[in-house]
Amino acid sequence: MINKRRLLIANDASSLGTGYGVYGRELLTRLYNTGKYEIAELSCYLSSEGAEELKKQVPWTIYPNAPSVTDSDEIKQAYHKTQINAFGSWRFDYVCAHFRPDIVFDMRDYWMYAYQETCVFRKHYKWVVMPTVDSAPQKGEWISTFQNMDLVIPYTDWARRTLKAQCKNSINMFPSIVNAGVDLDVFKPPENKKQLQAELFGREVEVTGCVMRNQKRKLIPDILKSYRAYLDKLLEEGKTEKFEKSILYIHTTFPEASGWNLPALLLEHNMIDKTYFTNICPHCHSVRITKFHEQPVTCKTCNKIGTMLPNAGRTIPTKNLVTIYQAFDLFLQVAICEGFGMPQAEAAACGIPIAATDYSAMSEIVANLEGYPIRVAALFRELETEANRANPDGQAITQIIYNYFALPEEERQEKSKRTRALCGQHYSWDACAEVWDRALSSVDISSNVPWDSPRSPYDSSVPIPTDLSPQELINFITKEIIKEPWLAETAGIKSMVKDCSNGYVIDRNHGARGVGMESIIKTLEKLLNHKANMEELRVNHQELDKMVSYYA
Ligand SMILES: [Zn+2]
Repeated sequence: MINKRRLLIANDASSLGTGYGVYGRELLTRLYNTGKYEIAELSCYLSSEGAEELKKQVPWTIYPNAPSVTDSDEIKQAYHKTQINAFGSWRFDYVCAHFRPDIVFDMRDYWMYAYQETCVFRKHYKWVVMPTVDSAPQKGEWISTFQNMDLVIPYTDWARRTLKAQCKNSINMFPSIVNAGVDLDVFKPPENKKQLQAELFGREVEVTGCVMRNQKRKLIPDILKSYRAYLDKLLEEGKTEKFEKSILYIHTTFPEASGWNLPALLLEHNMIDKTYFTNICPHCHSVRITKFHEQPVTCKTCNKIGTMLPNAGRTIPTKNLVTIYQAFDLFLQVAICEGFGMPQAEAAACGIPIAATDYSAMSEIVANLEGYPIRVAALFRELETEANRANPDGQAITQIIYNYFALPEEERQEKSKRTRALCGQHYSWDACAEVWDRALSSVDISSNVPWDSPRSPYDSSVPIPTDLSPQELINFITKEIIKEPWLAETAGIKSMVKDCSNGYVIDRNHGARGVGMESIIKTLEKLLNHKANMEELRVNHQELDKMVSYYA
């Protein structure tokens, strides 16, 4: 009998409705059903209580990452000590030692999995990542990490081309792209759109819609401005009946710490009466469509106060989201960049033609769905990411909306059917999982150091020679003391050498500060102690069983 490959994924918990959560569940379900894998999930944002519930629904092993309500304050404080703990950093090594994976895989943003690069158990498993490449160029530090992955799986063809152009053959990239999928049985067109719109809005309407988190890269100001220009154009041409029918729907979150100031923007563009939002009651979870209101209002279902726009902790059920898509006539994806932009595929599955910024993955998706690419007025370099981002042409957005709603009804219906059919062709979870399965099967795990091998050596008694350069110091300590020379090639340590050679490091919040060799020694000392502790646990596996909470 062939041993099943042991896969560990660190991801948003499969029970969560987030983009990563949904992707993970759809993928793991299919990988599990091949019968080829033993699977474990390090479930981010999930505590033991949630894990117990999730375990009733899925057959794979769950390692909850968030502290449980019964955990001590000390544990809770440890979790909140650094942001990356929420992504699994604080439990990852323990889970690795306990589950003993052949392959660890991830599909999130760079800063969510970067910690895995220096995992003390790195030689015991292969590391496979699908990076969310959303713009070009990618940071040098990221490329350096990609080079240390055993396999990089491109998300989209745009990602594949971007990585190829920048890395040439320095990364091991899987030849096929994986994409994402959408469930066509859940996301589907309404029986009767006109009737649904009349029920939801109380009259005949033509709806331009978008679904997005309220964040910097989603261009809510441009959407409002372009839609206002469309309305003004209708008025200029005396099309008052069309003007009355025309509404903008923004399904978004509010308030958000780093989000757009919706009330100010609505006021600025005279859009308060023309824009609709989704509201949810935190008590009975009933969902309503209303114009904007900043303060919580009384719920018409349960009469309690608190109904507001959704946010990360107040999300709406999928069935309500589907109804919202179904009420749209045209879908807009207006952002400076996207790694994929799932709402485009979900809207398309509901038979809604899409318009999207002609940049990054959006270019590819809008082309695949034969939608309306929004011309980019200019690319600009963003300071934080050092990447090119797109500034879409507002007049082009206005023109696309105008042209679409000028189409005869039959043509719009044809377009709707075609959009859904194309979505089914390009974005199916089965096809996506099939590529993942091929990729994960292709990885050669024969060179993995066995999990039950003897304790890996280290020697803290070796004296460190003086007069070494930062690079020589790193090489010496990783090779002679920690005895893990590969650490010197990891992105974090490489940037430490660079900072140390320069004599300063840029701290985003506090500006430049001096940095010396002692910081290298301190960091490596921590790694050494960590290795000593973790090796102890790895060889005393039974100890670990008491320490790690899991649901198998
Ligand atoms: Zn309520």
